[in-house]
Amino acid sequence: RLYNEVQELKGNIRVYCRIRPFLPGQNSRQTSIEYIGENGELVVANPFKQGKDTHRLFKFNKVFGQAATQEEVFLDTRPLIRSILDGYNVCIFAYGQTGSGKTYTMSGPSITSKEDWGVNYRALNDLFQLTQVRRNAVVYEVGVQMVEIYNEQVRDILSDGGIWNTALPNGLAVPDASMHSVRSTEDVLELMNIGLMNRTVGATALNERSSRSHCVLSVHVRGVDVETDSVLRGSLNLVDLAGSERVDRSEATGERLKEAQHINKSLSALGDVIFALAHKNPHVPYRNSKLTQVLQSSLGGQAKTLMFVQVNPDGDSYAETVSTLKFAERVS
Ligand code: ADP
Ligand code: MG
Repeated sequence: RLYNEVQELKGNIRVYCRIRPFLPGQNSRQTSIEYIGENGELVVANPFKQGKDTHRLFKFNKVFGQAATQEEVFLDTRPLIRSILDGYNVCIFAYGQTGSGKTYTMSGPSITSKEDWGVNYRALNDLFQLTQVRRNAVVYEVGVQMVEIYNEQVRDILSDGGIWNTALPNGLAVPDASMHSVRSTEDVLELMNIGLMNRTVGATALNERSSRSHCVLSVHVRGVDVETDSVLRGSLNLVDLAGSERVDRSEATGERLKEAQHINKSLSALGDVIFALAHKNPHVPYRNSKLTQVLQSSLGGQAKTLMFVQVNPDGDSYAETVSTLKFAERVS
């Protein structure tokens, strides 16, 4: 399968670009998307400028166009989920400016039918199904943590929610965040709702706040082989990143400027870490941000990383789109 070839070429880091459709009211003739190739090519251009020099070509492991469904996107994600049960630490990110579809890809639109489910519900659903299949030989435990990183502070957003407060022994967890044992996709759905509700506390508007914080759903799997008693651990981190848009320094002041600086710092720290891993650099600079510290164990070692690079097709977003694609190109 092509997936394996891609994996060999790019090691354990891959980048998928996803272009969201135009929303009602957006003018689809003014798009920055010029061409999407079969093999991950993407050409963007500024629709408000004429001339050849305005075109830019990028290359990723895959590009999902505006018509791609949640199911199609997940089909190319699924093999990663499988590898968690082989002991891998898998990290999946959504990167892009606010409004580019990060939350849509990771969670789905706010009112979700199964069809709308994003990567995180589908991944957990798969994980539970896979653990059922192997149940006779291996006994699995699954634990979930959920934290929000805002202004370089990590907040446990499940701490006062759980009825599943069973501690799971494992060495990979986010330090100090509560671990909730889950047995089914329904358990996870319930926990995620609690987490999302806790996220809104103190925020004037959910979108405002959620676009300026990183949300990390951390899933820990522990399998015990019934015959040999050997223990296998794998983890999955699902990360809805803060909006990557550059804030105009001349306009932002106070809180807004502070937030922007924290976001810039953590996203570039993430870029540096993935770049170092992709190039097998001996020094990986995990300590430079809370985000990379929280994800350290799931990014290095036996790890597989997938980044969804989200793009708003609107021509007005051209500058942000190019900066998003450049970020992604650097780490891929
Ligand atoms: P972000 O999390 O990056 O700020 P959202 O996921 O909230 O962006 O998406 C912005 C808007 O676009 C939402 O209304 C969302 O439902 C819509 N949207 C994003 N991606 C898609 C898609 N693939 N198909 C349909 N609507 C989408
Ligand atoms: Mg969002």
